[in-house]
This record gives sequence, structure tokens and C-alpha cells, in this order.
Amino acid sequence: MEYTKNLRIFVVRYLAATHHAPFRIKLIDTRFDKSIILHRDYSKDTILEQGIEWLTNAGINVIGKGHLNSKEDVIISDNFDLSLSDIAVCNYCKNASKETGFCENCGIGTYD
Ligand SMILES: [Zn+2]
Repeated sequence: MEYTKNLRIFVVRYLAATHHAPFRIKLIDTRFDKSIILHRDYSKDTILEQGIEWLTNAGINVIGKGHLNSKEDVIISDNFDLSLSDIAVCNYCKNASKETGFCENCGIGTYD
């Protein structure tokens, strides 16, 4: 039997706007059962593109992507080490970083 590689699946889910919040995206780590909600960054064409960039900035290597349904896409990684809760996230714009301290993305928040 051929070797089948274990991979890590992230789901990028569209969250509809509510009375309290605009359209957002939820990035779900199915491996560690963790998720993070991000503001939609319209400099990226799609939520899939935004999710891939966020994970890459966080240091999670992305090796594939796929479409799940009208509200969800999938991102595939071969990284199993880094949990979403270990990633430094800006307390203002939710940008991910491998660094700590001042956020160079929004210029307002800091990485926690
Ligand atoms: Zn920021």
C-alpha cells in the first residue's frame, strides 16, 4: 500500500453580518479544535486568500487548498506543531505574527 501522508485541515468559514458586527471570517483548526475570528481584509480578493496569508504570516506552512461549499473553503498544511493559541495575534487588527510587540500591520495594536 502506498504511503498516505497525514495533513492538517483548516476551514475558512464565511460569517454573515449581524446587527452588531460586519461580515467576518472564522478560521477553524480542526486538528486542535481551536478557531479565530478575523475581520474581512478587502485587500485580499477572497476569504480563502486571506486565510492562507494569515496562516503563512503565523508560520504555518500551507501546501494546499480546496473548496468545501458556498460558505466554507479548506486550507491544508503539513505543520502539526503550532496551535492557533500559540500564535501571536494583534489585539487590534488580529494580524498574525511570528514576532511579539508593536503591530506593523495596523500601526495601532500590539501582539499578545
Ligand atoms: Zn494590528
